[in-house]
Amino acid sequence: ESKKAHNFIENLIEDAIAKGEHTGQVVTRFPPEPNGYLHVGHAKSICLNFGIAQRFGGICNLRFDDTNPEKENQEYIDAIKRDVEWLGYTWNGDVRYASDYFDALYYFAEELIMRGKAYVCALSAEEMAEYRGTLTEPGRNSPYRERPTDESLRLFRDMREGKFRGGELVLRAKIDMASPNMNMRDPILYRIRYAEHHQTGDRWCIYPMYDFTHPISDAMEGITHSLCTLEFEDHRPLYEWVLENITAPCEPRQIEFARLNLNYTITSKRKLKRLVDEHVVEGWDDPRMPTISGMRRRGYTPESLRTFCDMIGVNKAGGVVDMGMLEFAIREDLNTRAPRAMCVMRPLKVTLTNYPTDKTETLVLPVHPQNPDMGQREVTWSQTLYIDREDFAEEPPRKWKRLSPGKAVRLRGGYVMTCNDVVRDASGEIIELRCEYDPATLGVNPEGYKPKGVIHWVSESHSVECDINQYDRLFNHEFPDSDREADFLDHVNPESLVVLKGARVEQNLATPMTDLPYQFEREGYFFCDQELTAQAGKPVFNRTVTLRDSWGK
Ligand code: ATP
Ligand code: MG
Ligand code: MG
Repeated sequence: ESKKAHNFIENLIEDAIAKGEHTGQVVTRFPPEPNGYLHVGHAKSICLNFGIAQRFGGICNLRFDDTNPEKENQEYIDAIKRDVEWLGYTWNGDVRYASDYFDALYYFAEELIMRGKAYVCALSAEEMAEYRGTLTEPGRNSPYRERPTDESLRLFRDMREGKFRGGELVLRAKIDMASPNMNMRDPILYRIRYAEHHQTGDRWCIYPMYDFTHPISDAMEGITHSLCTLEFEDHRPLYEWVLENITAPCEPRQIEFARLNLNYTITSKRKLKRLVDEHVVEGWDDPRMPTISGMRRRGYTPESLRTFCDMIGVNKAGGVVDMGMLEFAIREDLNTRAPRAMCVMRPLKVTLTNYPTDKTETLVLPVHPQNPDMGQREVTWSQTLYIDREDFAEEPPRKWKRLSPGKAVRLRGGYVMTCNDVVRDASGEIIELRCEYDPATLGVNPEGYKPKGVIHWVSESHSVECDINQYDRLFNHEFPDSDREADFLDHVNPESLVVLKGARVEQNLATPMTDLPYQFEREGYFFCDQELTAQAGKPVFNRTVTLRDSWGK
């Protein structure tokens, strides 16, 4: 068993086991609806459900909750499977679908009708809303509520046969129209939808509702603990009612936990879909998206997401998690693991006037300064180098530690050089620095003084051009979707993507590795985008995260 602290659900299970109330295997499930890609909120649910199964030596199923065929498709199913696997989890056996149970669900619905616990209702949607009452007013019984059992049964069968129009009739549970819990006021169990289903084709024209489907699917799979988010707390009596009123194969227990709310982003598939459909982002896996596939493409690691989920814990009380925590998790992970490299983002040419034109030298640098096991890398020193424009100031501010006229800096892993001349083009822009290097300074300070700064660099002939996607937070509002005055799309950060063309990265990265980001020294963590690299014919890197949290400062 892992040393991680237990969450309240694990405590409940542990207690139940200790008291002998729970015997046998612990069985959980992760039940996404395939109507979009998974996001960081789903990661919390995945880590929770699979984590509990691991902790208690149990199993966790992956079940697609597929009762809304119009909104679902195979692309989403494939993406969800890929994301769960990438996070490092293996579901028990084959993937399940709620639609696997359509026959059983139908059978249980007939059983309810025959027991006088469900009836076919012909109220229109508007009438039904009116009959339903309000939080302060009880509802009224539908005029169809006391219709004879065999009439409901015949109508329900005719619904299935396609003898009615979409929306014409529904099957409702007969519970209590005066219940203070609105979910218990004769909820709909089945509705008519003439929709092609991605798994069952056109076999069905009636589809079961979530509140009917979920408890029965859980029972069919022998789920012991059905974990869901707090919005479903009010649905628990209905979940239990369904299981009590059918001949259920087992009785799972529903336990609610707080959903993850992350500031500066959105965790709702429906809204994320708008970002995609309205081309605010390039797709579900755009690196700015809080989707698992977007974060993967940006350079987040499965380890960092799992650590993040541990850090935020599992609670009954909702709250908002700061985006900085997610960034902290990836920064920590990459700090210990990412290979180092030098990349000059805004190249400014440097000519070493006292270095021979044809000469080169091989310098050896560690791949990771704190981890010698990661080995060494070679970079080449030559007469023509590039440094970052931002590392040179013609009129330096006080305490400037980088390069300026007449001053010296050290180039990382190389020599100390002094800037003697600034070359400009016709428009007055600086296009070259003419510097002198000190041959006695490889790994040692010059006689008499210590240069203040160390900057990164590449050699012109020993570096490759690349493009950099500098990603930033997608929204510049802390709670983009809770502003009542504006649409959440109005809060998109216009600088969430800044593309830097013509950056130069050390030669070792001509073909970058694709399993982990690099740390570009002094810049941040950057991950090769395989798709964009193939398109551009040169490396394209996505900025995963900066080295420090400087957001909003
Ligand atoms: P969305 O509004 O994004 O569509 P959902 O809850 O409808 O979310 P599902 O596909 O039904 O999405 O979610 C599958 C599982 O993931 C559910 O058990 C759900 O409770 C959980 N889940 C979804 N969003 C979050 C979140 N933000 N935090 C924690 N768990 C979540
Ligand atoms: Mg759902
Ligand atoms: Mg949803």
